[in-house]
Amino acid sequence: MVEKLSTQCCIAGGGPAGMMLGFLLARAGVDVMVLEKHVDFLRDFRGDTIHPSTLAVMDDLGLLEEFLGLPHQRVDSLSANVYGQSVTIADFTHLKAVCPYLVLMPQWDFLDFLAERGRAFPNFHLLMGTRATGLIEQDGVIVGVRAESGSDAFEISCDLAVAADGRHTTLRESAGLAVEEAGAPIDVLWFRLTRDPSREDAQTGGYIRPGLFLVAINRDTYWQCGYVIPKGSLERLRAAGLDALKDHIHECVPVLGDALGELRDWDDLKLLTVQVNRLLRWYREGLLCIGDAAHAMSPVGGVGINLAIQDAVATGNLLGDALREKRLQTSHLEAVQRRREWPTRVTQRLQIAVQNEILAPVLAARRDGDPPKPQSLPLALQLVRRLPMLSRIPARVVGMGVRPERVRQRA
Ligand SMILES: Cc1cc2nc3c(=O)[nH]c(=O)nc-3n(C[C@H](O)[C@H](O)[C@H](O)COP(=O)(O)OP(=O)(O)OC[C@H]3O[C@@H](n4cnc5c(N)ncnc54)[C@H](O)[C@@H]3O)c2cc1C
Repeated sequence: MVEKLSTQCCIAGGGPAGMMLGFLLARAGVDVMVLEKHVDFLRDFRGDTIHPSTLAVMDDLGLLEEFLGLPHQRVDSLSANVYGQSVTIADFTHLKAVCPYLVLMPQWDFLDFLAERGRAFPNFHLLMGTRATGLIEQDGVIVGVRAESGSDAFEISCDLAVAADGRHTTLRESAGLAVEEAGAPIDVLWFRLTRDPSREDAQTGGYIRPGLFLVAINRDTYWQCGYVIPKGSLERLRAAGLDALKDHIHECVPVLGDALGELRDWDDLKLLTVQVNRLLRWYREGLLCIGDAAHAMSPVGGVGINLAIQDAVATGNLLGDALREKRLQTSHLEAVQRRREWPTRVTQRLQIAVQNEILAPVLAARRDGDPPKPQSLPLALQLVRRLPMLSRIPARVVGMGVRPERVRQRA
């Protein structure tokens, strides 16, 4: 038995893009249904950064003070420790922004906050534990979404379906939209280690040693670590053994050494297969893709959440009135792509430049068994070191994005 439901906008995916768009559309008076396949937002680390641009959006919505009342950490700058030399690579304190700093907060707290505020609107419907399984199409037009929750099946008719279901999107596949892959020379192993605040400490940031690159994020009681490896090299690392990997991590960030015993098994490390891609066309009649579903970002700069939120804000601004007034046309969807494609392209180009010009050469300095080749500071880092003012540029790109969006829709 298939239950028939209906809404104006059905959003698949309750990540940063889907939850923000759901909230914004509900606030604009649109009947909106968000489908999230998990029963809660409690998931592994997927990026816990809230950027100054998102804090500005929270301010636009009148939610900033309440939001900053949630437990969080504040980061004023990001640094890199390159062959033992410390370089500030992004200084947020000079940003012209309501909050010129990054906030670190578990992503589930952020999504729970949006869900709770969304539920204040009677026209906001969040269906947790509900997976979008495909699109309903009539004469080439998308007119709804198929979904399931346990043994229940749904057909949800809607004026607009939004694929905000992340990089492994189901809806984008169902729509047959073509993807352009940019490729990436790296993958990342994520893990966490206990942090003892009473001991000598490391700084939040990137640690570069010849052939090694590790990002360590201070999360108060633990370190969130990302160990960057050449693409497809996990099997080789596994063959060399976990102890060899731990030796490399220790060499990269010596103060993490004591906690490395917590890595007992390869299951304690999670592989992020890095992809950089984007859709050639983000929409079809009745369907729009946003966030990672439209463009998977490299972890370089940690800007995926930022772009996802900015896509949601632009979509809310451009479609809110048309959806509420039932006059949505494909040209509105095209306008979203026009608005967001350029920032996506520019950001991906910068990420690819960092991947190819800094990360790949660093990792190439160490081949199996060979002693690492000595390396000089990459040129970009030499420049930032000599001219610290240059660290304002990465701060702007990471913190605000290339084309920051502000909420233009009235509640
Ligand atoms: C390990 C890791 C670390 C990262 N670190 C950072 C960082 O530090 N900073 C940063 O900015 N970005 C980071 N990112 C990237 C960031 O997480 C993404 O770019 C961002 O979350 C994209 O948001 P989104 O809403 O488009 O997609 P997602 O966050 O992927 O959300 C998609 C949602 O859709 C749900 N879903 C999927 N399929 C279906 C379906 N069929 N039906 C219903 N629901 C579905 C998923 O459960 C999920 O909740 C990281 C990513 C990973 C994997």
